[in-house]
Amino acid sequence: MTATDAGAPPKKQRWTAQWKELYSEVITTGLCTGCAGCVVTCPHDVIGYEHEEGKYIPFHLEQELGLDNCIHGEKGCTTCTRACPRFGAWEPSADMHLFGRTRQPDEMAGIWRQLYLTRASDDMVHKMGQDGGLVSAMLIWLREHDYIDAALVSGVENDDAWKAKPVVVVTKEEILATAGSRYTYCANPMALPEAKERGLDRLALVGMGCQTSSPPTMWDRKAGKVSKPFQFNIGLLCSKTFDDAIFTELFEAKYGLKKQDIVKMNIKGVFQIWMKDGSYHEVNLKECHAWTRKGCTHCPDFAAEHADVSTGGIGEDNDWTLTIVRTELGEEVIERMIADGSIIAKPAQTDETAMRLLRLLSIVSRRRWPQDADPNPAVGVPPPKKKAAAEPAPAPAD
Ligand SMILES: Cc1cc2nc3c(=O)[nH]c(=O)nc-3n(C[C@H](O)[C@H](O)[C@H](O)COP(=O)(O)OP(=O)(O)OC[C@H]3O[C@@H](n4cnc5c(N)ncnc54)[C@H](O)[C@@H]3O)c2cc1C
Ligand code: SF4
Ligand code: SF4
Repeated sequence: MTATDAGAPPKKQRWTAQWKELYSEVITTGLCTGCAGCVVTCPHDVIGYEHEEGKYIPFHLEQELGLDNCIHGEKGCTTCTRACPRFGAWEPSADMHLFGRTRQPDEMAGIWRQLYLTRASDDMVHKMGQDGGLVSAMLIWLREHDYIDAALVSGVENDDAWKAKPVVVVTKEEILATAGSRYTYCANPMALPEAKERGLDRLALVGMGCQTSSPPTMWDRKAGKVSKPFQFNIGLLCSKTFDDAIFTELFEAKYGLKKQDIVKMNIKGVFQIWMKDGSYHEVNLKECHAWTRKGCTHCPDFAAEHADVSTGGIGEDNDWTLTIVRTELGEEVIERMIADGSIIAKPAQTDETAMRLLRLLSIVSRRRWPQDADPNPAVGVPPPKKKAAAEPAPAPAD
């Protein structure tokens, strides 16, 4: 080394990974969550996606070089790997971009600034919301205060109230019509092309951690103008989603609960199901495991660690949204919403159940990350305790 080399920062390696590497390192290894980040960012529109039962995985539309290679990639296009929040060292990449540092080993739920329990002040918004209605209240507020033009969220098919589909929402009515949780997968980024066609440039993305890690990963890896529309990122805490087949194969076949008669679902230690006729049913979560969507089995991110604000329902009281404020922008918005009375907030640290579950469920998810993948998501994760001395198993909650 010469004297002039000694103090120089290490040169960043040129990013050359393309679909070929995405296919071999993420898609065929089972790390792919089906978030659709690669699909919506591909500048050549050669990545397809099937939003159907048992699929939720990208595939290459051009066959010249086979399923596992891309002619545009061979010519230097690298956008898909830059956008993928499971490719390479994605966790430190998104951390650095959002927070200017990587998470400490004991920060199991990611980096945050404030922890609140919140609820919408507007009774209608609160009623329509899954928990405290914070997400819907925030989308309405962001629109009214000119932070965004629209949001990418999960709606449902016209003829099936439980078949989730990615949609663009603009008005308060549209936002409220898509409130509440569906527990099957919905790749909300897939609504991006519609937003673009409609000239809606400033967007909020609502999604589970697998989806909300995508914009900061793209920004950090300089995926280009495709990452610009994402202005605000709202995360949903998540342990898993289920295949659509759970409705017919379990709920209907075993319990006679027809999909079209279900009015509300929630997960609070058990699958809670409310029916049109006013009846209420509980299904043991262990029974549901067989319908876990494949893309969730290795996912390490319970707490949606790369959002501006992450939200969940693990508090002692169902009527509040656990609100993890992570970025400066998230803090600005939450503080303004509290100040103008749009939401009611209290410190979450007073809710011991929520705090305990947030840590435990974050650990449980991180333990799923394969040992032969990038090591970062597993950093600091305590090994499982031996059965006799084990912490009580966390009740999956939502
Ligand atoms: C699949 C899934 C699993 C979850 N698991 C947990 C959990 O284990 N623990 C926990 O504490 N919280 C979990 N949540 C989050 C929780 O259910 C609430 O979404 C969160 O507390 C916000 O509540 P809210 O009343 O503020 O939101 P609302 O105002 O009701 O808004 C909810 C938003 O979520 C969107 N959405 C609904 N379903 C989906 C979907 N399938 N995919 C993408 N977006 C969707 C809606 O379009 C809406 O914008 C999960 C959510 C989902 C969708
Ligand atoms: S995790 Fe998302 S971005 Fe990565 S390959 Fe799968 S769908 Fe594409
Ligand atoms: S567990 Fe949740 S956050 Fe993880 S891949 Fe599945 S849907 Fe996405």
